[in-house]
Amino acid sequence: MRTRILVIGSSNTDMVIKLARIPRPGETLLGSEFLMGAGGKGANQAVSAARAGGKVTFIACLGRDIFGDQAMTGFLKDGINVDYIRREASAPSGVALIFVGKDGENSIAVAGGANTRLNPAHVRKAKRAFKAADTLLTQLETPLDTVFEAAKIGADTGLHVVLNPAPAQRLPSELLRLVSILTPNETEAEVLTGIKVINALSAAAAADRLLARGVATVIITLGARGAFVASASIRQLVPAIRVKAVDSTAAGDVFNGALAVAISEGRSLLEAVRFANAAAAISVTRTGAQPSAPRRREIERLLRRY
Ligand code: ADP
Repeated sequence: MRTRILVIGSSNTDMVIKLARIPRPGETLLGSEFLMGAGGKGANQAVSAARAGGKVTFIACLGRDIFGDQAMTGFLKDGINVDYIRREASAPSGVALIFVGKDGENSIAVAGGANTRLNPAHVRKAKRAFKAADTLLTQLETPLDTVFEAAKIGADTGLHVVLNPAPAQRLPSELLRLVSILTPNETEAEVLTGIKVINALSAAAAADRLLARGVATVIITLGARGAFVASASIRQLVPAIRVKAVDSTAAGDVFNGALAVAISEGRSLLEAVRFANAAAAISVTRTGAQPSAPRRREIERLLRRY
């Protein structure tokens, strides 16, 4: 079964320099290693959903530059429909500059560039893509009015509207009411609710607050602990699969991409979260953002073992 997922969001090129420590302002440090990879929450989730078995259309805005060309090549390789990706001549493609210190600490600067040009009109022009989809998946690295428009059209068209509220920001209840599944991590849940989320108990309290604001289902991802699921009829922690973690970059993105696929396939909520936990567990055993997203047969193999 190939289910249809519409992803709307950002695409960045991540440039990583590994150093002994993060440079101070005014300081020049020689780094040991440079890595470049495809990233951006929207693109990471689109690629994760495609590899997990979804038929993905990605709506995004890239610059007319080599980074945009590279991103396009990657999307095509993963079989993603790029018909609605806009190339903007007057803005560069999004870039994230990342310093990683020896102890794993990092410092990140993001230039949103073309991602900031993805506007509501662009989303409205893609109505046919909405009609062809089962599930809409979006995040907060593109302008909020664009996310709002997408959620409105998604809800009107009868899609499952999945919002990953990352990076953390407070959101109006008018937007939350359009959301079928909200997937914050601990930090994002705290910013949205004011409740410090540290375990299943505090996650339940935060989830209750979000349900009260009109979200149909809340899934709070809890890193190595798994994910707490709350809806009108379910309140349950779905434990993570134990793995040897080496790099948690994009764990949340892989979780969301795989979740959207399982939901589109009509799996139950808890089954979908198990599938997403398995995909994300594999991703933390590998380095990088998009390179770490597993293929469906790998996810299924891991699930069979548990
Ligand atoms: P984010 O990357 O957005 O901060 P989390 O850290 O909550 O999100 O991770 C998302 C999901 O990735 C978790 O719900 C879990 O399924 C999986 N995950 C994260 N860290 C680990 C880990 N160390 N071992 C197994 N699974 C993990």
